[in-house]
Amino acid sequence: MAYRSLSESLKETFGCKVYKLSLDGGMTCPNRDGTVGTRGCIFCSGAGEFAAAGENVAQQITLAKKRVEQKNPGGRYIAYFQSFTNTYAPVSRLRELFTAAMEPEEIVALAIATRADCLGDEVLDLLEELNRRKPVWVELGLQTVHAKTAAYIRRGCELAAFDHAIRALKQRGITVILHMILGLPGEGVEEIFATADYIACSGADGVKFHLLYVQEGTDLAEEYRAGRIRVLEEEEYIPLLAECVRRMPPRMVIHRLTGDGDKRTLIAPLWSADKKRVLNDIRRYFKENGVEQGAHFAAGEQEGNDGA
Ligand code: SF4
Repeated sequence: MAYRSLSESLKETFGCKVYKLSLDGGMTCPNRDGTVGTRGCIFCSGAGEFAAAGENVAQQITLAKKRVEQKNPGGRYIAYFQSFTNTYAPVSRLRELFTAAMEPEEIVALAIATRADCLGDEVLDLLEELNRRKPVWVELGLQTVHAKTAAYIRRGCELAAFDHAIRALKQRGITVILHMILGLPGEGVEEIFATADYIACSGADGVKFHLLYVQEGTDLAEEYRAGRIRVLEEEEYIPLLAECVRRMPPRMVIHRLTGDGDKRTLIAPLWSADKKRVLNDIRRYFKENGVEQGAHFAAGEQEGNDGA
């Protein structure tokens, strides 16, 4: 196998196909509410992709399951808190939400997207406790290791916060997944591969590779329309992605190989809208070019954070 895919890893762990149910915890983000910033990350439209509407977590799970039940009768699910910053609430509220989400028997894991600077000790203690009941995954939007790009995209979180968060999560046995964006303004191949190498050696368990795409209603859309930024062509993206995959250690789970934005508000690149075709193109490229995850993983013996 050219790379360790999420579906393969889930089948190994749970012995069956597992679907994610996107849930809305009703939280905002410190990069939007004025605590860190007011305008959010430059590419962020705020919304999660397909979070189910509903008054409480149990209702949301029922509704979200209805969408996939035909494909997954009697199947297993991951409760996925995706929109905004899902540890940005009092710990008592988080406990209530997360406990309700893991309650149903068919929920086999809890996935929480958040910021590296929103993982205080009390939150970490709660996640550690929940992780003893069912696996807890934490997703962090690293996107880049370069301070200049992080400032441009208004991430509002230093790289040191990621170092700290990854170490603290791994010390508690929690699964960590990092997001990376390829094609960020001002970044060439060296910058992109430096971010990939950081992730490879970070101790993280999984990675989501995203293509930089421009959504309507974001400040990035203004940058794009003013001609100040460009986006990657598919012929540029796939070889870059292939090299990032080669740089990952063989055990790293590749959760995502491309972007998955809302087609209704996608401005560019339009080639990314046909996800099925893009994934086929990626797999064909991997096959034709003998791409193997781990082939260029250069730091084997140094891999992992202190506590990993
Ligand atoms: S941290 Fe996440 S939710 Fe907050 S502005 Fe950035 S991308 Fe959006």
